[in-house]
Amino acid sequence: MVLAELGGSISRALQQMSNATIIDEKVLNDCLNEITRALLQADVQFMLVRDMKNNIKKIVNLEELAAGHNKRRIIQEAIYNELCKILDPGKPSFALKKGKTSIVMFVGLQGSGKTTTCTKYAYHHQKKGWKPALVCADTFRAGAFDQLKQNATKAKIPFYGSYTESDPVRIAVEGVERFKQENCDLIIVDTSGRHKQEAALFEEMRQVSEATKPDLVIFVMDSSIGQAAFDQAQAFKQSVAVGAVIITKMDGHAKGGGALSAVAATKSPIIFIGTGEHMDEFEVFDVKPFVKRLLGFGDLSGFMDKIQEVVPMDQQPELLQKLSEGNFTLRIMYEQFQNILKMGPIGQVFSMLPGFSQELMPKGREKESQAKIKRYMTMMDSMTNEELDSSNPKLMNESRVMRIARGCGRPVRDVMEMLEEYKRLAKIWSKMKGLKIPKKGEMSALSRNMNA
Ligand code: GDP
Repeated sequence: MVLAELGGSISRALQQMSNATIIDEKVLNDCLNEITRALLQADVQFMLVRDMKNNIKKIVNLEELAAGHNKRRIIQEAIYNELCKILDPGKPSFALKKGKTSIVMFVGLQGSGKTTTCTKYAYHHQKKGWKPALVCADTFRAGAFDQLKQNATKAKIPFYGSYTESDPVRIAVEGVERFKQENCDLIIVDTSGRHKQEAALFEEMRQVSEATKPDLVIFVMDSSIGQAAFDQAQAFKQSVAVGAVIITKMDGHAKGGGALSAVAATKSPIIFIGTGEHMDEFEVFDVKPFVKRLLGFGDLSGFMDKIQEVVPMDQQPELLQKLSEGNFTLRIMYEQFQNILKMGPIGQVFSMLPGFSQELMPKGREKESQAKIKRYMTMMDSMTNEELDSSNPKLMNESRVMRIARGCGRPVRDVMEMLEEYKRLAKIWSKMKGLKIPKKGEMSALSRNMNA
């Protein structure tokens, strides 16, 4: 998984720097070289990476920094700011308005993930209280309508399309009309793609756009093309008024970082990224939280949003209460592991937390992670209630560790590893101490505060 790998390399480089006793020129250079290598591997353009490195070196002048300055912090901040700069595509100028019907048209090459993304986008907004509808004006690809119909039915989103009509403009206009009458406030029009950029594709896009007068045109792009995303984004921008970009398949390609930075360089706002084939593998793209996660700092605003999305309503207060108390016991770890195994998507919640994603549950290695979690749970089954409910690390002395190892039939070293994992997660968890428990509807305001 591109982001986990890129993020892993960058946070490892930062960690190594943090472990060094003295921060000198060599330590800084090693750290920057490591980050540079990781970015180039993710296909970020050489010139962007070189400029980033030079800028950081200009900001972090080790000789001029007087003793007492927190050099690590200054370096981390400089890296964070520079990465934000590279990935910042500018803010989208369009936002959906309640009480008004918005028409959003999707364009992109065939296979980019356009149809899948239309439904993800509709589903995302449906969960936030909008009333979306889908129109399939893709008459070029056989099966496009069936695919949209299937996805829309699963998500209980109304759809419109035709097996017989071959004129995309006509379908688009009819679909939009129908859903306006049905008072849908978000009408999404999926258009045809082609295998490559060609005149027929651009002409069709223009015609559908003229006939439906979309409030927003979203360009969908496959991340696997890396830096080449720059030319593709420019070409689409020149043919139709692209207002936002969604980059798909960020889960499967080593070049995702390149695609993100290349699109950002065209100043086209990236609003979401696709991180898998499933409907909920879709994330709002926001530069600052994204870079924070990349650097292993965690993304608390994403965390709060995800809790709201994937943890059942009745379990949210309890989980938040435990978070706010800041006391992370082995029992809480056990319960969260149970959730992860049972619910699947809750894994996404914890992937927003620093520490949980890269080490415990790297994407693409779910099977191994699950096996590890099950192993930890077997060991915890051999613990006493006192041990599970205590948050005192000193309680787990040698004789207790030996007893647990005997009880679960695993080597002492495995029990030690599980306890180390617990300590690591407890440290992260403790950062949430004092978290104000939001009342209904306050969740996003809270997450903004936490991330400020
Ligand atoms: P279209 O031709 O542009 O409409 O593309 P589709 O929506 O049919 O998607 C092409 C393929 O990409 C399908 O197999 C999708 O399941 C897959 N796909 C779409 N988005 C993602 C994503 O974010 N991650 C992954 N792994 N696959 C995706």
